[in-house]
Amino acid sequence: MDNLLAAPGVRVYFKDLESRFLLVSAGCDATVPTGQELSDLIGKTDFDFYSEEHAASAFHDEQEIIRTGQPLEQKLEQETFLDRADTWVSTSKMPLLDKDGEIVGTWGVTRDVTAQVKAEKALAYQVLHDPVTGLSNRISMMDRLEQAFVALERLPGRLAVFFVDLDHFKVINDSYGHDVGDQLLVEVGRRLSRVSRRADTVARLGGDEFVILCTSLNNDDDIALIANRIVERVRAPFFKDGHELTVTCSVGIFPTTDPQAEPEDLLRGADDAMYEAKELGRNRYRVYDPSSRGVSTANQFKAELCHAIENNELFLQYQPLFSLDDQSLVGVEALVRWRHPDRGIVAPDAFIPFAEQHGLIASIDSFVLDEACRQLEEWTSREGWPAGFTMAVNVSGRELSEVGFAKVVEEVMLRYHISPERLCLEITETAFVGGWAEIQETLAALSLLEVRIALDDFGTGYSSLAHLQHMRVDVVKIDRSFVEHIGRSARDREIVAAVTAMSHALGMSVVGEGVETDHQLDTLMGLDCDQGQGFLLARPMSPEAVVALVG
Ligand code: C2E
Ligand code: CA
Ligand code: CA
Repeated sequence: MDNLLAAPGVRVYFKDLESRFLLVSAGCDATVPTGQELSDLIGKTDFDFYSEEHAASAFHDEQEIIRTGQPLEQKLEQETFLDRADTWVSTSKMPLLDKDGEIVGTWGVTRDVTAQVKAEKALAYQVLHDPVTGLSNRISMMDRLEQAFVALERLPGRLAVFFVDLDHFKVINDSYGHDVGDQLLVEVGRRLSRVSRRADTVARLGGDEFVILCTSLNNDDDIALIANRIVERVRAPFFKDGHELTVTCSVGIFPTTDPQAEPEDLLRGADDAMYEAKELGRNRYRVYDPSSRGVSTANQFKAELCHAIENNELFLQYQPLFSLDDQSLVGVEALVRWRHPDRGIVAPDAFIPFAEQHGLIASIDSFVLDEACRQLEEWTSREGWPAGFTMAVNVSGRELSEVGFAKVVEEVMLRYHISPERLCLEITETAFVGGWAEIQETLAALSLLEVRIALDDFGTGYSSLAHLQHMRVDVVKIDRSFVEHIGRSARDREIVAAVTAMSHALGMSVVGEGVETDHQLDTLMGLDCDQGQGFLLARPMSPEAVVALVG
């Protein structure tokens, strides 16, 4: 007994029939109330030192032992002292017998297992949480889903799984490094947690995939509300080390009221719907609809798109650009459309991103380049066609990193006798930042051809003014999202003013995109913007309509 009494982390005590301490050993400071000598305990009960709840539970256990004569083995409990919490102990208690075998009290051995319990908790945390964001991981998400269905059996209701996937996250990782990528994931996790309610579960499944489980939804409006919030919150800019980053997300949603549904099916359905959201142009949500025939599966879609390219289902519309000085027409931007046999006219946002991902963008872009240049030659050979009329053609970032791209451009220019100042290639900011080296090579080759380069959608990607000076571009196109708020937001106005001033200082001209109101137009003019493009001035139109406009 001597050894046991002295063992570190172990306390042995004896109590009488009323659970008053008779004797307490040393050896386990953590389980002795602060400021108490061991001798102070004698004659007192747990109620003098511990929380009511803990003392009552110990008292109950001891009275049971006295009543039944049966020992209590290895009970793990948290000791809550009146003045201190958080000591975990493992207790075994036995009846205390006198020399005649009569029960005269209890005795017990208490071991301090706090360190062990904490380690186990940390481990459990690791097993159930994503190390980067601290959110739940797939394992705990599946567990929560199971629980949610059990709850649904008891109390009918509606729940939904939101599958959130970031758009083009790889570009951020590639251009800014994984540290910035991780920080962005953490911030996205925070934003998603704020969108959901406390009872909801937000998990990161890996990579740039997040899942939110929302329980107790009332109706479809609730779902749309949350989905809209997700899309909006994620695309608000992030500020990291002097950079302003933006990332959008595509969200797939699987709602259900069926308690018999399988968690795996829910996740898969939400994933499918997310994929549809990507297919429809990203930066949006889509609710899973098993009966939906509107959106085809990836393979089917790819086959249809290949067919479209080969069978001339693609065609171009042209949106005019105007000088803000004198409102004169300065050129057009070629915009591709797809005349789908069943679905009617399909907008480029619904197939360009898909084409980029599935290796079809090169054929689309070269069709567009060819057709636009053919049209340009036809137009400019007409009498009275405006001097200096330019044709802008969008070029996917994927194309730019292909070695032969400048050659393709050169061939098309030769074929249609295009002088270089008439052709403007529009390239998004994202393309400039991703695959820097290859793109620089292509840009250098293009600058030998002397074609003009426009930086498209400026402000949506990595809008750092500092970047501008490293980009050899002739035109900066300020994205619609800035122009949209230019009347209301002083911040957007300042940004546009700064971009314009900087671009002019660098010898670039500036186009405001998406001009829809007179107020926006006036503001852009006031900010010294050179050109405007937007529905207010002219919508994308057929080649015949362009001819009529010029006439
Ligand atoms: P973008 O290059 O920014 O093209 C401008 C888009 O804004 C066009 O949409 C145009 O219709 C729209 N827009 C113009 N003015 C306004 C306005 O006042 N208000 C609003 N709400 N929208 C306006 P569209 O034709 O649907 O093209 C979407 C995007 O698809 C383009 O954005 C471009 O990134 C891509 N795209 C279009 N054609 C091609 C192409 O031939 N090749 C490649 N790679 N991408 C293309
Ligand atoms: Ca463009
Ligand atoms: Ca644009």
